[in-house]
Amino acid sequence: MELLGQPSFRAKQLAQWLYVHHVNSYENMTNLPVSLRESLSERFPLHPATLAERRISHDGTRKYIVEFHDGACVEAVAIPSKIDNRLTICFSTQVGCSMQCAFCATGKAGFERNLLPGEIVDQVMLAQEDMGQRVTNLVGMGQGEPFLNYENVLSALRILNYSKGIAIGARHISISTCGLLDGIERFSHEPEQFTLAVSLHAARQATRDLLMPRMATNQLPDLQRALRRYTQKTNRRVTLEYIMIQDVNDTEDDLEALQAFCSDLLCHINLIPINVLEDSSFRPSEPRIMRRWIESIQSCGKEITVRNSRGADIEGACGQLKRTKCFT
Ligand code: SAH
Repeated sequence: MELLGQPSFRAKQLAQWLYVHHVNSYENMTNLPVSLRESLSERFPLHPATLAERRISHDGTRKYIVEFHDGACVEAVAIPSKIDNRLTICFSTQVGCSMQCAFCATGKAGFERNLLPGEIVDQVMLAQEDMGQRVTNLVGMGQGEPFLNYENVLSALRILNYSKGIAIGARHISISTCGLLDGIERFSHEPEQFTLAVSLHAARQATRDLLMPRMATNQLPDLQRALRRYTQKTNRRVTLEYIMIQDVNDTEDDLEALQAFCSDLLCHINLIPINVLEDSSFRPSEPRIMRRWIESIQSCGKEITVRNSRGADIEGACGQLKRTKCFT
């Protein structure tokens, strides 16, 4: 608005139209002067995203395929919780992903492009409208690696957090990274209290390199140091995500390595029984192994939870998101 020589209150009006009323055209922004609407549509055309597909799980979870103006698609998932009336949206940050993690469907199709801030925000707004309920929590755990699209992701988080817009509290917004050190460092300097989650999945180097080949240049002691610096700087706890895969990363040695990794780290551990993918021999750990890990980690005074990945029947669960093209 400054660029257009407009007073600053116009920016607030515009933000309300975009992020509260979610209108798709400047023409509908009736409290803006016609001449301003015209120059906005000329200089900053709007490209509204659309819902190309929706699938509803028997557990109430909904998976959406969101299509952008160039035909690129990402998946977003709405996860309602009746018990505490929460609505969590899991959004994507890139079309496809370049990380090639062995257990995740997204990387299989490769990387296509980064999402723009508006394309990230649109996923949340479309899901919120479809659910007819206010979003309470956000997780950046869909397709893509958020820290490889750092600036656009942060801009989107700021829009989603903006108090006169969608207004989701920073503490209710989590971003998950495969552990890019520069990104973790940068995130620690952000003033908002966003939550950081890190996909650890193995605390032994050789196993992690096998599961997350693109992270192989990234040594675990360096990751540990980066996380320690992050918690010291922010005073905030990080979440360590750990997918449990039978006989791959769930041995006693793996448990010991995990305990050593997090022994003096302010963290919370989130165990995730792997969701089985097509063409993959990885299977979830046995319940008795899960129990052993939970008890053992709790006895060291660490908080540990088990993720209940919802929406597996609609391929909406963690690691199952893979669509990058729309065929509508
Ligand atoms: N690139 C980021 C964001 C994607 S997050 C990251 O790696 O963190 C995707 C979440 O789903 C992460 O917690 C990831 O570890 C988890 N995930 C991926 N594949 C999975 C699978 N097959 N089963 C269960 N969880 C999986």
